[in-house]
Amino acid sequence: MKNCLLCDSKLKLTASWQQIIHGEKTKSICTNCRELFEKSQMPNSLYRYNEAMKKYLHQLKFLQDCRLTIVFAKELQQAIKRYEVDIIMPIPMHVKRLRQRTFAHVDELLKSANLPFEHLLEKTTTERQSDKNKQQRLQMENLFRLKPTVEIAGKRILIVDDLWTTGTTIQHATKILQQAQVKSVHYLTLIKG
Ligand SMILES: [Zn+2]
Repeated sequence: MKNCLLCDSKLKLTASWQQIIHGEKTKSICTNCRELFEKSQMPNSLYRYNEAMKKYLHQLKFLQDCRLTIVFAKELQQAIKRYEVDIIMPIPMHVKRLRQRTFAHVDELLKSANLPFEHLLEKTTTERQSDKNKQQRLQMENLFRLKPTVEIAGKRILIVDDLWTTGTTIQHATKILQQAQVKSVHYLTLIKG
């Protein structure tokens, strides 16, 4: 008998309609937990940022519970397949942060969804935007730069990230990709803040 990855209650082994809809091979979370997530009405994100989602993201990102990547794997796969793109690109973490954290959760979400991806950008700063005032944010240099050997002119790119809040991250990434003469840039986030 398995337990729910979020609330630890015992999972029923019989396939539920939710399991069929979400295409889970094995059940990862219970029906109660699944129902607490709210679908997003926005075209570029799957879910709203509510209490349940806040808890999920915390457990995935900061407690590094890699098992949780399976919860939205099928949906993410179906959503991403609707975009006609050449390259799926997760938003990168800063190398230093990545080392500290040792877990690139967006990469892991894509791996769980069986989707190939490529890192085209690298982060230029570890400074947090919340440490800056408005003037400093406006004058801020781009958060990213193109990796040295990347050739993407004419390609269609899909940026994937976990959470959309102010949109700054996606805007900065888009700008760099456009400067590299890509054909198009789309984005999808799991959650919209
Ligand atoms: Zn549960």
